[in-house]
Amino acid sequence: MPRLLFATLLGLGTPTIASVMPAVPQTPEAITARFDAAMAEADERVAAIIAVPKGERTYDNTIDAMDAINAHFDRDGNLLAFMGYVHPDAAMRDAARACEERWTNWYIDLGKNESLYQSIQSFADTNPKLDGEDARLLRFLLRDYRRAGMELSPSARAELTDVEKELNELTIAFDQNILDDATTLFLAEEELQGMPDDYIAGLTHAGNMYALGMDYPTSLPILNHSPNEETRQKMWLSRRRRAKANVEVLEKILSLRSKQAEILGFDHASDFENEIRMSKNADEVERFYAKLRPLLAEKAKEDFAMLTAAKREATGDPGAKLRPWDFGYWMERVRERDYDVDSNVVKEYFPFATVRDGIFEITQNLYGIDYRPIDAPADAPLWHEDVEYFEVVDRNTGEVLGEFTMDMYPREGKYGHAAQWGIVPRKVWPDGSVQRPVAALVCNFPKPTKDRPSLLTHDQAETFFHEFGHCLHTLLTETDTTRFAGTSVERDFVEAPSQMLESWVWSPETLPLMSGHYETGEPLPTDLLERMIAAKSLCKGMLDQGQVWLGSIDQAYHTSPDGDVDTTQVGLDMVEQCTMFEAVPNTWFQAGFGHLTGYQGGYYGYLWSKVFAEDMAERFKELGMLNPEAGAWYREKVLSRGGSADASDMLRDYLGREPKLDAYIRSLKPDG
Ligand SMILES: [Zn+2]
Repeated sequence: MPRLLFATLLGLGTPTIASVMPAVPQTPEAITARFDAAMAEADERVAAIIAVPKGERTYDNTIDAMDAINAHFDRDGNLLAFMGYVHPDAAMRDAARACEERWTNWYIDLGKNESLYQSIQSFADTNPKLDGEDARLLRFLLRDYRRAGMELSPSARAELTDVEKELNELTIAFDQNILDDATTLFLAEEELQGMPDDYIAGLTHAGNMYALGMDYPTSLPILNHSPNEETRQKMWLSRRRRAKANVEVLEKILSLRSKQAEILGFDHASDFENEIRMSKNADEVERFYAKLRPLLAEKAKEDFAMLTAAKREATGDPGAKLRPWDFGYWMERVRERDYDVDSNVVKEYFPFATVRDGIFEITQNLYGIDYRPIDAPADAPLWHEDVEYFEVVDRNTGEVLGEFTMDMYPREGKYGHAAQWGIVPRKVWPDGSVQRPVAALVCNFPKPTKDRPSLLTHDQAETFFHEFGHCLHTLLTETDTTRFAGTSVERDFVEAPSQMLESWVWSPETLPLMSGHYETGEPLPTDLLERMIAAKSLCKGMLDQGQVWLGSIDQAYHTSPDGDVDTTQVGLDMVEQCTMFEAVPNTWFQAGFGHLTGYQGGYYGYLWSKVFAEDMAERFKELGMLNPEAGAWYREKVLSRGGSADASDMLRDYLGREPKLDAYIRSLKPDG
């Protein structure tokens, strides 16, 4: 529906013209020119901070001025870089990517700028009386410089730089080996028996065999649906033996990360990485897992027994054992047998517009805000006609809080997953005026066709809520600094607000607001909803044990004090420690585990934040999923504060008690 018509239907008249987001660039030259200008301006701001004469340093001209560099550069640059992910024109994307690469390098240099560091340090040496966000900002700036090695002796710093450069190269090699991996499984026609015809028709022929790649659309259907155990086993083993060269690359990376941590005065890489997360150190992560493992094991044992029984019954072999390549297959059989949830039927109840309007209604009422459609200026249209654009208005004050865009359908050259981008960060300038935030939501939902609107699977509706949770975190922030605005929280907390919002797609109280059959408008049938909710906990114990296994490997790799790790052996040991399965020798899963280069010692964060997300949702479950007081409380205690306080303090303040595991553990069970 064209934006104008949509607005008219809502009774809002002609949309107002946007005023918070910078104008969308219209040519590649404009991207480059605007980026050059923003970078030149940032360089001037850096020079101005350095140039402040000794004795004249103040919070405003040094510390707030540092924050202003980011506030300006992000406002001017984020939208330009974002075009690299969404613009339909390849030349626009190329120009944007080139700018983003220069930007990344500019920030690396900034973090090692000696004169700038001395400027901050000399202000800190005056022992200024600061409090709140101001004190926190100074503390964080000094912390960043320390972690970049600026407090080290020149020789130690040089050594650190060498280690970082080599690490950077090896990290790129590790990622590239995964991308380049061409592991192929060759299967004969009879080995594919039982697979759907359209699946087989889509496979590549190699002589009289079929050649199967390891990508998800090819490999997952085999693991989940091939009735031939040997075929599943072959696929499972092929996946676990990808990118073998990476075993050596990874072991070098671990040794260098250990060296890096040692130079900076940490026991190991995990302590270095986790210093700036909620967990603070590796011991805390281990304590978390130690609490979780037995609780998960309880549910996992039940899951395992259920799948084993299903296998034994179907094969007639009373001694049959459940192996790792059986897991997906028997889970899907039990899902069909016990829950009868057909995702093709479910999605008829989730037309995109209904889900969107439901999300809007729910979050507007919870947080006391309104979303109003707006237009980009006529001379600077948005990057694609599908993109919707809204401003967020506070119902109490009438104040515009920020803006967001939604770009929801796939197209050639567009970023292929779902994500939220912060486009403009919030900043309160010294004169009290406010730079308001802008967020951009990017998803890839099915496009409407001639006869059908866009229909979302229940998973996709959940993704929509998840990403919208990130958006609201960006938009409802009330911090003074850009450094602590919106989603700039500890990395092991950043998923919690978005994971929490997922609860609303599972609540019988809120589902009617966001669902309705695309032809009849009828609500989701209650029995179908009940089966969906029951199926939610299917094998959740074993599934989350899998997460603990990944996180435990990550921790074990990064807590070795000398960085000398037999990554294959540790991976196999962890299978037995963390899961229900026996380890399968001669496999090297870690070589294809791409997260090892982004999360060093931080993979645990997914479950960690999930525990808090479930705990935070409790208040809504008690007071009502649509209760505006609960919403206002959450907005004030969590969303508005961004990263301006430690997440653990915010959590305690919001909950009125210490966080607990109970809600998460309940979520593993069918009646949770
Ligand atoms: Zn997320």
